[in-house]
Amino acid sequence: MAKKSTQKERCLLFMKIASLVWEKISRAHDVNVDIPEIGITSDIIVNILQFNKKHNPSRFDVYAKPGWNEGKYGNDIDLFVETSQGLYKWFALQSKVLKKNNRYTTLRDTSDGIMQWDKLLLLEGLSGCKGYFLLYNGVADYHDVGTDCCLKIFDEKQFGCSLVEPCYIESLANKTSRLGRFTNPKFRDIHPQNADPWRTLVCCQSEYLEFDLYSLEDVINSNPTFERIDNKRNSKIADKEDDLNEKTKNCFKIPVVKKNKINQASRKAKWNPAIRVIIKTPLTILTEIYKL
Ligand SMILES: [Zn+2]
Repeated sequence: MAKKSTQKERCLLFMKIASLVWEKISRAHDVNVDIPEIGITSDIIVNILQFNKKHNPSRFDVYAKPGWNEGKYGNDIDLFVETSQGLYKWFALQSKVLKKNNRYTTLRDTSDGIMQWDKLLLLEGLSGCKGYFLLYNGVADYHDVGTDCCLKIFDEKQFGCSLVEPCYIESLANKTSRLGRFTNPKFRDIHPQNADPWRTLVCCQSEYLEFDLYSLEDVINSNPTFERIDNKRNSKIADKEDDLNEKTKNCFKIPVVKKNKINQASRKAKWNPAIRVIIKTPLTILTEIYKL
C-alpha cells in the first residue's frame, strides 16, 4: 500500500508541475514574452524542493552544479528512478522551451558541434539509459484530451512538460524548406501524437521496461561536481557564494571516475547535465531513516 500511495504522490507532483509550466508559458506568450529554459527548470526544482519540505523524510534527492541556475551549463537533467530496491533506472532529459511563435527554435543549438539528439542516442547505446527531449510548453488556444502510455486520461496542460523520442526530434529538426533552410518544428508537429506527459517517468512504466539499472553508489559517484541541494534555508551550500566562480570553472568537464559506467558513458557522449534528481522507493526512504 505504501508503495502505491508514494507512487501516486509523485505522479500528482509531476502532474501539478506540468500544469504550472503550461499556464506560465501560455500567460507569457499571451503578452509576447519568451521564457528561457532555465527559468522553467528553476521552477521545477523549486516545486520539487517545496514538496520535499512538506514530506519528512524527503522524497527526492536533488543535486546541482554550483551556479546551476545562472544558465551556465545548458539544460540537461539526469533523473534516476529506483525501480526495485537499490536499483535505479536512468532517464537523460534534454529540455527545450516552446517560443512565443509556437516553434522550437533551439533544437539545432550545439556547444560542441554535436547535435543533442546524437548525444542522447549515443548515451542510450553506451549506458542503457533512456533519453528524451523534455519539452516545456504552453499554448493558450490548444485543447485536447488524450491517453498516455499508462492508459491514463489527461488534458492539454499535461503537455506543459512533455517527453519526445530523440529520433523523432532528429527527423523534424533535419527538415528543410524549399530554399534548403532548416525549419523549426511547431508545437502541433509533435503534439499530441508523438509526446507523452512527463508524469509517466515516475509512474508504473518504470517497472516493466527493460533498461540497465544502477546502484545508488554508482549514481552518486558518477560525477563529483554535483552538490546536494539542501532544502533548508541557511544550509552551508547557500552561504558559500564567494568561491562560486572558482567552483563553476571545474564543472564544465566531467572528472574521470574509474570503473563507473555512468561516468564513462557521460564523458564519451559529452553529456554533462546541470541537475540530477534521484527518486527512491518508500522502502529505501524508511531504511535510510532507521540507519540514522
Ligand atoms: Zn502508470
